[in-house]
Amino acid sequence: MIILLASIFLLGLVVGSFLNVVIYRTLHGESPFEGRSRCPHCHRTIRAVDNIPLLSYILLGGRCRRCRAYISWSYPVVELLTGVLFVWWFVAGSAIFRLTQYPFVHLQPLFWLVIGLLLLVVFFTDLLYGVIPDVIVWILGFSALLYRVLLTMGGIMQPADFWYSLVSGVGVLAFFLGLIAITRGRGMGMGDAKLAFVLGLILGWPRIVVAIFLSFSLGALVALLLLAIGKKRFGQTLPFGPFLVVGTAIALVWGGQLWSSYLTLLF
Ligand SMILES: [Zn+2]
Repeated sequence: MIILLASIFLLGLVVGSFLNVVIYRTLHGESPFEGRSRCPHCHRTIRAVDNIPLLSYILLGGRCRRCRAYISWSYPVVELLTGVLFVWWFVAGSAIFRLTQYPFVHLQPLFWLVIGLLLLVVFFTDLLYGVIPDVIVWILGFSALLYRVLLTMGGIMQPADFWYSLVSGVGVLAFFLGLIAITRGRGMGMGDAKLAFVLGLILGWPRIVVAIFLSFSLGALVALLLLAIGKKRFGQTLPFGPFLVVGTAIALVWGGQLWSSYLTLLF
């Protein structure tokens, strides 16, 4: 069991290393599938031995071997988080993935793993560069629609639920567009609105409400903390994508319980 989990963690590290390439190249308009990795500073090709996930970063002390420039902390963190995501997905999956009917027995875990990886990419592109790449939002939205259509066709999901998830997405989009109009785009951007629409499709009703509520609460909390320790000045904005991603992750796992406790509080 330990060997199996260790292998899954290592696989996650390798995939995380690829996600780093996706994050960097998507934002620099390059294909993630072309050419070898290069140092962002000296542009020299990174040798295979210096490109081992996590380990190379530690051994090189977080610097490029050639030009000694510091390598972003985000590289090992993305790798580590992807490794943890893989192990969590494998261990907690048996409790979450309950569809036993072919092909959903394979499709359900695969779908959620892909969604998890794409959301990890969005978290870091927005945190590091303030950008939510359209291409990632398109893939997220297309996968969610396709998955829901397949579930409905397979008789696992009621057609009404399919329409609920679509309406949830449109409702959230309208909410964000309203916010952008009121704040004149100083807080949220169109990237946030498009991502929120797609998250509505992924989460459906009522989880999307939990996710949005959590994102705003976390965003406000972190903004206050940063103001308090003097890291940010009043009026400076934070990227909102990372909060949407964290809110979504919490809503996916505990959304049902959180929603029923809200209702208990209200009535
Ligand atoms: Zn270098």
